[in-house]
Amino acid sequence: MYDPGRLGVRRSPLHQAVFALLADESSFSAARAALAALERDFLSLNAVRVARYREVERILDRARVSHSRRKAVALRRLLSHVYESQHEMSLDTLATRNLADVKKALEKIPVLDRLAVDAVLQYSLDYLQVAVYPALARPMRRLGIAAAKATDRQIAQKVASAVPKEALAGFCVSAIEFGDAVCLDASPKCKSCPFLRACPEGARRAEEQRKSARRAVRRRASGPSARRKPAPRAARPARRASNRATAGRRRSR
Ligand code: SF4
Repeated sequence: MYDPGRLGVRRSPLHQAVFALLADESSFSAARAALAALERDFLSLNAVRVARYREVERILDRARVSHSRRKAVALRRLLSHVYESQHEMSLDTLATRNLADVKKALEKIPVLDRLAVDAVLQYSLDYLQVAVYPALARPMRRLGIAAAKATDRQIAQKVASAVPKEALAGFCVSAIEFGDAVCLDASPKCKSCPFLRACPEGARRAEEQRKSARRAVRRRASGPSARRKPAPRAARPARRASNRATAGRRRSR
């Protein structure tokens, strides 16, 4: 299911930067679909640079990328910066520079945050770097591979030291795909998760669900229908007395 070869994580530095921008607070699958649609509809990133915001926004909406307007604006800023600073629509020259220069050049791009810089370093320039997307950090913490309060830097170190270099990119993308599809932020799909038996968070959630199911059964058992009291006995003789009086009046007529 999580085959790194299928995921196609290798992109040019510029495409990786665009992808990282699109993937911010969106799933990888949505960002991938948006990038493919932009390339298909505009034919080049240079054409995206001069396109109207509304056109870009519409494509991002169709791909279900979040904050489409903000990202359309950020995308134009990113592409304009690259075009003006590199005199071409490419960041390929970064591959010929040392790490310090590369970082400096990437950090100068106004809309790229730390995570996007790490993603370009890891996936396009082959540095031993781990871009810790929330969808990667989440299952790491929940599964207990990293401490619950581990920082992103600690998680990056843990992953980089545990996974062989040649498998690092594939492992990270697989973990992110898993976090995007199964170990969701608000409602993880623990029941269908292959790691449920080994997952402390999955066990905690399952126990919580059992408790709330028991509470629901108890509530139903002591609900309004179960609590309804029989009519007070004193009322019955009164009604019988009034019935007798009515019958007496009828007889006397
Ligand atoms: S069992 Fe649930 S919390 Fe644990 S890794 Fe799987 S989906 Fe995430």
